[in-house]
Amino acid sequence: MESKIWLSSPHMGGKEQSYINNAFETNWIAPLGPHVNGFESDLQNYLNQDSHVAALSSGTAAIHLGLILLNVSHGDEVICQSKTFSASANPIAYQGATPIFVDSEKDTWNMCPQQLEIAIKDRISKGKKPKAIIPVHLYGMPYKIEEIHNIAKQYDIPVLEDSAEALGSTYNGTKCGTFGDIAILSFNGNKIITTSGGGAIVTKDLKLKEKAVFLATQAREKAVEYLHASIGYNYRLSNVLAGIGRGQMEVLDDHVAARRRNYAFYKDSFKTIEELQFVEEPAGAFSNRWLSCVLTPSQEIREGIRTSLETYNIETRPLWKPMHQQPVFKDAPQYINGVSDELFKKGLCLPSGSNLTENELNRVVSAIKMYFRA
Ligand SMILES: *Cc1c(COP(=O)(O)O)cnc(C)c1O
Repeated sequence: MESKIWLSSPHMGGKEQSYINNAFETNWIAPLGPHVNGFESDLQNYLNQDSHVAALSSGTAAIHLGLILLNVSHGDEVICQSKTFSASANPIAYQGATPIFVDSEKDTWNMCPQQLEIAIKDRISKGKKPKAIIPVHLYGMPYKIEEIHNIAKQYDIPVLEDSAEALGSTYNGTKCGTFGDIAILSFNGNKIITTSGGGAIVTKDLKLKEKAVFLATQAREKAVEYLHASIGYNYRLSNVLAGIGRGQMEVLDDHVAARRRNYAFYKDSFKTIEELQFVEEPAGAFSNRWLSCVLTPSQEIREGIRTSLETYNIETRPLWKPMHQQPVFKDAPQYINGVSDELFKKGLCLPSGSNLTENELNRVVSAIKMYFRA
């Protein structure tokens, strides 16, 4: 059997080990230290827009703290893109709030502005104004920034921007992760850069960043004794892992370029296979192409390709199963137009790592061509 081709595997740049060694040499083996501060400032410089970054233990923790900073609590409602990874929605439940799922549009596969407005109006008419909106830049593709933020502004609802998959993506030249009242990033093992596990909160309000760090370090008040006036969390990033992050920031742009090359290679290789369709970037959008995705004609063909590639030891994955289809969220209110159900049936994520070799990319293309006998 040929070696396994993964969907998206970690890709070290080379300097990570020396940052880790430095953490050991200086004995900064703790959830604070110079690498945490350095990683935060690397991210701030990269994102620009006067961003303040708090490095955390995961993207999920970042969404949880983001909801707390937006005062989401028991009994509240939070609007969330249905087509996403469960981590976008779970923290709503951690807060005892109710997720309200909103379907996608076809151009970016992200939150549909029309459905969003329908949902907001309906929730208000039922007596509760949503406390926050969580749109997602799925697979790195920026959501409809202007439309979504205009609606949010019109109804005066804050946006928690889930940019877990979109570090390196831009809209009209502005980096994803800087559009929301609060944004979050993830550095999980399969993301565009990784610290093995990690995440961050991004905000333009220094006070909010400070509050995020305070809550992430057990909400310890300024006092000699351990004084607590609110509930805290243990959500800070380890200084060892932040060292990996500093090394990864040096190669982030290379990772984006490599993933975009993968996408271009697939698109060109399959241009004669009518059954496979790709989604282009709308005007103004620049996607990091975290994952290269194709649309097939049917669920049957999607599964046919997936299982056929499995026999070649190639990992692929259906697009995220929408949250409104998940058993755990079956009772959550939902505003559905059929788009994400259709995408889930037909869509497949192809191997997309920035470390794929030419030989590996060719193996994927050959295996898919074999399926279509093309
Ligand atoms: C990965 C991911 C998260 C969660 O990040 P973790 O660091 O794995 O906790 C949240 N939202 C989306 C869309 C993701 O892909």
